[in-house]
Amino acid sequence: MRVLMVASEAVPFAKTGGLADVAGALPGALERLGCDVTLVMPAYRDVFTKGLPIEETGLSFEVPLGARRATARILRGRLPGSDVTPFFIANDACFDRPTLYGGAEDYADNAERFIFFARAALEFAGRQDRPFDILHCHDWQAGLVPAYQKLAYRAWPMLSQARAVMTIHNMAYQGLFWHWDMLLTGFDWKYFNWQQMEFFGQLSFLKTGLVFADAISTVSPTYAKEIQHAPGGCGLEGVLAARSDALVGIVNGIDTTVWNPAVDRHIPRGYGPDTVAEGKDAARIALAARLGHAAPDPRPLVALVGRLVEQKGIDLVIEMLGRMAGGGRAHFVILGTGSADTEDALRHAAAAYPGTIDVVIGFDEEFAHLVFAAADIALVPSRYEPCGLTQLYALRYGTIPVVRATGGLVDTVVDATPETLASGRASGFVFEAFDSLALEHALDRALLAHADRTLWSGLVRHVMDQDWSWDASAREYVRLFERVRAAPPVAVS
Ligand code: ADP
Repeated sequence: MRVLMVASEAVPFAKTGGLADVAGALPGALERLGCDVTLVMPAYRDVFTKGLPIEETGLSFEVPLGARRATARILRGRLPGSDVTPFFIANDACFDRPTLYGGAEDYADNAERFIFFARAALEFAGRQDRPFDILHCHDWQAGLVPAYQKLAYRAWPMLSQARAVMTIHNMAYQGLFWHWDMLLTGFDWKYFNWQQMEFFGQLSFLKTGLVFADAISTVSPTYAKEIQHAPGGCGLEGVLAARSDALVGIVNGIDTTVWNPAVDRHIPRGYGPDTVAEGKDAARIALAARLGHAAPDPRPLVALVGRLVEQKGIDLVIEMLGRMAGGGRAHFVILGTGSADTEDALRHAAAAYPGTIDVVIGFDEEFAHLVFAAADIALVPSRYEPCGLTQLYALRYGTIPVVRATGGLVDTVVDATPETLASGRASGFVFEAFDSLALEHALDRALLAHADRTLWSGLVRHVMDQDWSWDASAREYVRLFERVRAAPPVAVS
């Protein structure tokens, strides 16, 4: 099966969130199952700063963009750990910029940039020598691909038989643009209606993808249900409910070549289920040194790694810290970046409790590995969470997650109750209400369990033995691809 994967970011080339982890690992996992995968992404400035080999292919072509033409130059790289060749679409005006999508404000021309990207991806695929079966499109940045395939490239032999699968990583990001940007797409205005491309007067890239795709997936079964209702659907719940037959949830895997405590280059001592105590001790010495402490703290270490934004429940954490840090029952380490207000509030908390709260502001992938290895408990108190990767990394590193019961967290963490502990299924501590007291109570339960060495080491061993690699998820994607390929394409008029 030949798959064109269209993603706006992929590890190790460019990353702002979980999508990059998926787009970096899924192609290799699909190839191991016999798929032939071609990955296409933009040639951002970031792509060239990683010391990875990127070469010219000699292929370039012009892409229509409204009334003008824009040149796409195709570059080629290598996806480490796999035989997949990633291709990069270069156009310096669009992509040679300091960040992927903008800073505090999105780039004003993001519509134009990703119209260009979607068309260029198809123009590139259309110039290959073997037809594609599946166009796998990720998030709003690739949202126009299914529509272009059906409305503009249907007659192209390499694309005509393909089915488009749209994967949603987060409903909150929809690619909503000025209605006049329709002119840049080249689509007929007749599609600018509430059942197809329009969303309350704006052009919606994600809605377009959801309507024109032959199948839709999202990154966990629970999130697939949540987005068919408000508030999870972020306004598109009606569109998703109408297409519920075409919608599935497939939990993300983790890249176990990168996230494996046995061979992790970013931690001082590799470890497995039998050597977790020694591995974590070594990691805690390194972490203490890194944080400027004379010696590691013997108290349980509670960590949070992620974007310091409302979605991640950081407001609950700040409230909870205000009440719990004074009790001195645990040491907290927080790594992330967020709004100035949130970062300030966390710095404030750290200054109030030196030696009990450490806050590291920044995006530091290597440090994240050390934090997961050193910690006993990881917090993921999200308001909503399509899948969530940090709880999966935590499990892999024998770090017990405390999570809110939402989205993928429901599908990946089993609350420790007397029953689940007795049956050996427990893997973390789960709370329901989006409330700092509920978080505090769950963390309290985790700390009590941590004090019981036998119970805790059984829990740690169990979570480290779980398999969250991409293999199982990739098999589900293959089944989805096979199903959608066997069915007729979605009707478009
Ligand atoms: P989202 O995509 O919503 O940000 P996920 O949990 O799916 O959340 O993925 C986030 C990814 O980004 C994880 O790999 C996480 O470890 C990483 N990450 C987030 N913030 C940081 C940071 N400040 N430093 C290092 N890694 C980070």
